[in-house]
Amino acid sequence: MRIGTLVIIVIFSLALVGLSLVQFQWLKAGIVFEKERFENGINEVLSATNLYINQNTALQKLLLKLAKGQTNPEEHALLDTASNAMEHFLDQQFDEKGIGVAYSFALTRGYQHHLLLGSLDHTKEAADFSIYQKKISGQLSAACRCQLSIHIRVHNLFGYLLNRLAYLIFSSVVFIILLMGSLVFLLLMLRNRNRLHRVKNDFINNLTHELKTPVFSISLITKVLRQTPGAASSEKALAYLSLIDKENALLKGHIEKVLELASLEKSKYALQLKLVDIHELIRSIAQHFEAKVMEQGGQLNLDLATGEFNLQLDAVHFRNVIQNLLENALKYSNRTPIITIRTIKQGKHFELYIEDNGIGVAPEHQRKIFDKFYRVSNGNLHDVKGFGLGLNYVKQIVEAHKGRISIKSQLGTGATFLIRLPAKIKDKAS
Ligand code: ADP
Repeated sequence: MRIGTLVIIVIFSLALVGLSLVQFQWLKAGIVFEKERFENGINEVLSATNLYINQNTALQKLLLKLAKGQTNPEEHALLDTASNAMEHFLDQQFDEKGIGVAYSFALTRGYQHHLLLGSLDHTKEAADFSIYQKKISGQLSAACRCQLSIHIRVHNLFGYLLNRLAYLIFSSVVFIILLMGSLVFLLLMLRNRNRLHRVKNDFINNLTHELKTPVFSISLITKVLRQTPGAASSEKALAYLSLIDKENALLKGHIEKVLELASLEKSKYALQLKLVDIHELIRSIAQHFEAKVMEQGGQLNLDLATGEFNLQLDAVHFRNVIQNLLENALKYSNRTPIITIRTIKQGKHFELYIEDNGIGVAPEHQRKIFDKFYRVSNGNLHDVKGFGLGLNYVKQIVEAHKGRISIKSQLGTGATFLIRLPAKIKDKAS
């Protein structure tokens, strides 16, 4: 698993755990709030019941007799009616307060819990219940000279409170599951993408390797043809042979470029760093490249800082970097090319500029040209072919040397590429 993927998983998991904890705290706060709301409602119901009893003289009489144990058998029938009426009243009250909870009630005398009146199931043992009670005040207590209380027993209060918050719990769980699902989906997509990336790289690698063999054979055959007496005797045949050579060299160049990048991805920048005299490297590249510029009637200028600068470089890759930039300077030119290589020592940095007077790069493309396969499609230079790999390779190599590359350009007036390298390495000039 790649380190990037691992970081995404860790961050996402932490965020998910954090989110779940926050949701849990909200849920707890929600339960406290709902419980408070519920208790306020129950207290109001108890007060209303107290009032109901105090306003109902028949009920008061019955309760008084019950409390004193003076009821006769005929009056026992009244008990059920009174109980039902009370239950009906309480149901109404609960409805009004919007409390849809399972409950039972009882009217008792004193603390001995002498049951006078109540729901049938009130005395039954229940697993989970909460009791709310209120002393009955007013004339009834005074007449009885005893303490009467009303009790409401609520069954499974916690379940009721959770139920009240069901929409919150449900939506939280759904969103968390959605987030987890999208992470899994993302990881699967990433895995698939990585696999495709690997397959594509292997394919390019194999293809370019396969192409190298015929290219090598063609150059060998043209060489043999040239050297075989009589095989290419006419001037036309010789011209064709040089054309084949030229096209073959071009093809070879393309293959090398693609291979360069593929090998870079495989070797993970295993640079062979050595102290290299950068000015000497630049001069040797310029010597070869100058001929190409002069072929087009152009000019290659060197403006190198005084002194000898030895930097820790991978000479092969860094040569490719400078060559790539010079080739682009020549390729993307629509007039007599004037190319300048400039070096400056800036404090702790060594700066290398490659300047041209070509078509330039518009600001909106300047960041993107360093992306793999990115090419500016400005249409006015149809014949310039490329893969959009060169600058990506340059950037990767420069960054592997702990350097930075940037571009300054205006469309139509040319481009300047700046490579900034750390120069803390042995520097004889300073
Ligand atoms: P390629 O040249 O193969 O297309 P590169 O990665 O070397 O790929 O360059 C990417 C794009 O950047 C090019 O297609 C071109 O549009 C633009 N570019 C690079 N160098 C220059 C330059 N010196 N002047 C103008 N445009 C350039």
